[in-house]
Amino acid sequence: MIPYGRQSISKDDLAAVVDVLTSDFLTQGPAVPAFEETMRDLCDAKHSIAVSNATAALHIACLALGVGRGDIVWTSPITFVASANCALYCGAEVDFVDIDPRTYNLSLEALADKLKRAELTGRLPKVVIPVHLAGQSCDMAGLNALALRYGFKVVEDASHAVGAHYKGEPVGNCRYSDITIFSFHPVKIITTAEGGLALTNSPELAQRMSLLRSHGITRDPEEMTGPSEGAWFYEQLMLGFNYRMTDIQAALGSSQALRLHEFVGRRRELAAMYDASLTGLPLTLPWQHPDTTSSYHLYIIQLEAHLCEDRARVFDELRNQGIGANLHYIPVYLQPYYRRLGFQRGYCPEAEKYYSCAISIPLYPGMSQQDQAVVIDALKKAVPRG
Ligand SMILES: *Cc1c(COP(=O)(O)O)cnc(C)c1O
Repeated sequence: MIPYGRQSISKDDLAAVVDVLTSDFLTQGPAVPAFEETMRDLCDAKHSIAVSNATAALHIACLALGVGRGDIVWTSPITFVASANCALYCGAEVDFVDIDPRTYNLSLEALADKLKRAELTGRLPKVVIPVHLAGQSCDMAGLNALALRYGFKVVEDASHAVGAHYKGEPVGNCRYSDITIFSFHPVKIITTAEGGLALTNSPELAQRMSLLRSHGITRDPEEMTGPSEGAWFYEQLMLGFNYRMTDIQAALGSSQALRLHEFVGRRRELAAMYDASLTGLPLTLPWQHPDTTSSYHLYIIQLEAHLCEDRARVFDELRNQGIGANLHYIPVYLQPYYRRLGFQRGYCPEAEKYYSCAISIPLYPGMSQQDQAVVIDALKKAVPRG
């Protein structure tokens, strides 16, 4: 099976991990701050906090922004469930903004409309979480303008967009958001096995998130409520978690970060090859907004509307031909858990239309030209003519 995504581990990556395993610290050593610094510098952000996974990063991002009972968080329905679950962890409610049919990202028109209505009913969101689907940034300048007008905070779920750019600047610099989070799951752009990161330019948010990552405990006398009682002393200032990344993971992350440019370059090459080879088939290929340079975490195709009834057959045929087709994503609110909260089919029509026609085809830096040719041939066979 040619998988839809796969990590690429080099000899240097292996050596970096082995170095940590034979050092004094497997966790809470120097590799985590080194990785944080690497990512902060790559993204031109002021602060970064490495955590156990991106779900944990979303959770502490919401908590640091004060999300709690009585609050509402809005996100895109076309995302992994974690982008919505993080609000529920905080006791808040979650709601969904329909997508733009070209980018499949949260639609700014839909958002502007929904905000207007929410203002009238006094139900404005505390936080909006845009998701940079497949590695293409949302319209962050537009979103920021709405955030200033309506007073909500912004957390970018950039799990797909490590190494992507928006208006010529790296995603993660938080120019138009309060916090940006990354995922380092093996299918994502760079990996730490499990791992995540929160970036911010706010020293207060950074401090809160680093406390929340580790039980709410500080050993820094400057942060304590009173004088330190000795070298052993620490204080728990808030209720936090153990969301720490290990040094083993961080060393892998730093080593992978050196290859980020190569990874994204290769993904873009493969995407360009798909673009060139699949035109002429009755498919919608990924449309790119001129302000964005995608990291191409995913290559998502859509069958033309009149063929979408055939999607399951096309999908199965690809799988039968050894192509690890996938689907990103089922609209979150259609999950049974979310339906029990009251969401119904028809809530976000564009998201549902997208869902019924989309397929993700394999794309990862280690994909060979031959593998890609096999995928292209299989698609040509599986997709009905015209
Ligand atoms: C992968 C992913 C997450 C969760 O990442 P983990 O590191 O597995 O917790 C969240 N949001 C999106 C959009 C993702 O793709």
